[in-house]
Amino acid sequence: MTMKIAVLPGDGIGTEIVEQAVRVLNVLDLKFEMESALVGGAAYEAHGHPLPDGTLNLAKAADAILFGAVGDWKYDKLDRPLRPEQAILGLRKHLGLFANFRPAICYEQLVGASSLKPELIAGLDILIIRELTGDIYFGQPRGRRVATDGHFPGAEEAFDTMRYSKPEIERIAHVAFQAARKRSKKVTSVDKANVLETFQFWKDVVTEVHAQYPDVELQHMYVDNAAMQLVKAPKAFDVVVTGNMFGDILSDEASMLTGSIGMLPSASLNAKNQGLYEPSHGSAPDIAGKGIANPLATILSAAMMLRFSLQQPEAADRIESAVQAVLATGYRTPDIWSAGTLKVGTREMGDAVVAAITGKTITKAITKS
Ligand code: NAD
Repeated sequence: MTMKIAVLPGDGIGTEIVEQAVRVLNVLDLKFEMESALVGGAAYEAHGHPLPDGTLNLAKAADAILFGAVGDWKYDKLDRPLRPEQAILGLRKHLGLFANFRPAICYEQLVGASSLKPELIAGLDILIIRELTGDIYFGQPRGRRVATDGHFPGAEEAFDTMRYSKPEIERIAHVAFQAARKRSKKVTSVDKANVLETFQFWKDVVTEVHAQYPDVELQHMYVDNAAMQLVKAPKAFDVVVTGNMFGDILSDEASMLTGSIGMLPSASLNAKNQGLYEPSHGSAPDIAGKGIANPLATILSAAMMLRFSLQQPEAADRIESAVQAVLATGYRTPDIWSAGTLKVGTREMGDAVVAAITGKTITKAITKS
């Protein structure tokens, strides 16, 4: 069966890094049907909307979506519904992508790139699972109004609504416990049950679902403590599950433990295992067009795509091993470069991964240095 991949490079470095991931996919001897479409600022320029119908329909019909990044400061003045970032929210909503997986793995060769002491992060391998379609980011009502109560009645105020339904918490809890079964069988559920009604409910429902997973250890932790523990003793975590807003913040914190955001892949899945795969970083307008962006987060996202949505675990392993081999050979894009290693650009890093997969000598594969 041919696997259908919607390729949405987006803006800024998105086009440069997705190009390398596509090259890597193309040397795997698998049959893919890949079709590209514009998204984000590029789609706004061409069609007046960051997520045109054609792009959305292509994404809906695909088995998986390989996404680059969207956004540029030049679009910051547009009305909110027309801003590039709305394309991601739209895809999450229309495809029901409720489970976001963000592994934070510290590669042995990059231990020195982290701002934490090597002994704290060497061997780090944690998985943050963030609920992606609920919480205060989507809750209604929201808006601006004149306050009728509170500390300043009569003053202008803004408000959002934090809410979670039981099925929303149950399904993300199942995802976390099942993921933990394939790892070291430990889940930390992060909440703010001491202050928020929504997160007392979250804690109660996660505890209820846990009864179906007696082989998995469950720990509850308040979000403020979790933020602290992530930098104090990150290796104490394995699978972390939390709501949309706490997950947004904690997954960025965890990403920096590993040294560079340019190394971190992510997956967002729906109930049918259809998924959107993208690097954890944005479109990096500051380095776009310079050919120096690190493509490894996107290449590793393609590996996650093969594992989660396309049921090709061996191909995923091949990509991940190739990335390790390239790092071991000393190739580094500027974001992960340190003295004694070889600085390469986006395309050369892609060349090196392709060479490692196809069994060629990595050093000979570099087109320029
Ligand atoms: P960013 O992640 O784009 O960049 C932050 C820093 O990391 C920059 O210095 C950048 O050069 C560097 N960086 C990021 N990816 C890199 C890579 N692969 N290789 C080397 N260096 C890399 O975040 P930002 O600057 O806050 O945002 C830029 C734009 O991206 C904004 O418009 C923002 O809204 C958008 N954004 C999009 C997404 C997405 O598409 N999912 C996510 C976050 C931000």
